[in-house]
Amino acid sequence: MTGLLVFGALLAVACSQKLFVGDQVLRISANNEEHVALLRGLEELEDLQLDYWAAPAKPGLPVDIRVPFPSLQPVKIFLESNGIPYTIMIEDVQTLLDEEKEAMERARKLERSSSGFDFSTYHTIEEIYSWMDDLVAQHPDLVSKIQIGESYEKRPLYVLKFSTGRTVKTHRPAIWIDTGIHSREWITQATGVWTANKIATEYGKDASLTAILTSMDIFLEIVTNPDGFAYTHSQNRMWRKTRSINAGSSCKGVDPNRNWDAGFGGPGAANNPCSETYHGPYPFSESETKSVADFILSHGKMKAAISIHSYSQMLMFPYGYKEEPAPNHQELDDLAKEAVDALAAVHGTQYRYGSTIHTIYQADGITIDWTYDNGVKYSYTFELRDTGRYGFLLPAAQIIPTAEETWPALMKIMVHVHEHPY
Ligand SMILES: [Zn+2]
Repeated sequence: MTGLLVFGALLAVACSQKLFVGDQVLRISANNEEHVALLRGLEELEDLQLDYWAAPAKPGLPVDIRVPFPSLQPVKIFLESNGIPYTIMIEDVQTLLDEEKEAMERARKLERSSSGFDFSTYHTIEEIYSWMDDLVAQHPDLVSKIQIGESYEKRPLYVLKFSTGRTVKTHRPAIWIDTGIHSREWITQATGVWTANKIATEYGKDASLTAILTSMDIFLEIVTNPDGFAYTHSQNRMWRKTRSINAGSSCKGVDPNRNWDAGFGGPGAANNPCSETYHGPYPFSESETKSVADFILSHGKMKAAISIHSYSQMLMFPYGYKEEPAPNHQELDDLAKEAVDALAAVHGTQYRYGSTIHTIYQADGITIDWTYDNGVKYSYTFELRDTGRYGFLLPAAQIIPTAEETWPALMKIMVHVHEHPY
């Protein structure tokens, strides 16, 4: 009887997962403005159900699209008839998903038998939240967990606080880091976990980190979009947005990186609730963004804000919503160069860097433009590995190398902030 129930439960889980059998990810070369415009037009054709992994930006930047199996033929014909070159980046999306799932299951078995936590595998929200409690228990003098709000589906929004100033009554200057605001960018939450462990274990050993934590606090929100993240595990691995209901639409969710009150609703975001870049009905309509904004404002001494995404290997700073350079553009640019050089020195991974609008495209209502406009002078966005070979489905074998190389880049920024108090 129990066996039957377990089998039934497994079957229910298996059946509720959205499948991507035969879907391909095409890498498309947009060589001129006409190509860019044609690819933007293609996105409007909702029947094709295209999923833009890398949206049309400017000539020379590749466009990556996951094309559902039934749309493959019309899309390829469209590209060929317009003379737009493409290659097949991922032959069958489901094959990669199956491999990812098998790797997770293998790792989970090993974790159970060793009762340890494997940083080189992807984890569910429950596993990450329980690991966070373990980290706090192991480093009670440095790490604590605070709840800054709850998600649309009432999951707690947890932030790890790294602080040596328990007895200090006033807020210390601090650094904010978030990962996973786009739920399908699994390498980011995994990097967040590794980074939290790194901070906890290197404090007292690494002189620069120890110096930072002597006078500053670090806040790290690992699962910044918990509803979306849970959904990527249970239902649809490709989910990016929040899970809120949109009035008058059957499409759910808001892009939490278009929902901030900085250039909100401009052309670098979508009005259509079915779009992956839908900005939402009004700024901070999503509790996941509102809670972070409220926390940063009430804290009052946030000196750096680093929002971590994937993929495309870029380090960007304000602005995304306007062409105008940020007042300390040169300083941000110099520091970005230092950071990407430090990153490349670890495993040779090359990053591009610059202001968002000039590095990719106009993006309105994004996290770091809001933090910057609200007094956080050092605001950065990372786009972690890779450049599209696997895209959002980066194999777990790359988690540790990715986190390892990101760390010295984060440290460059944190050290600079520490050495330039304002
Ligand atoms: Zn993202």
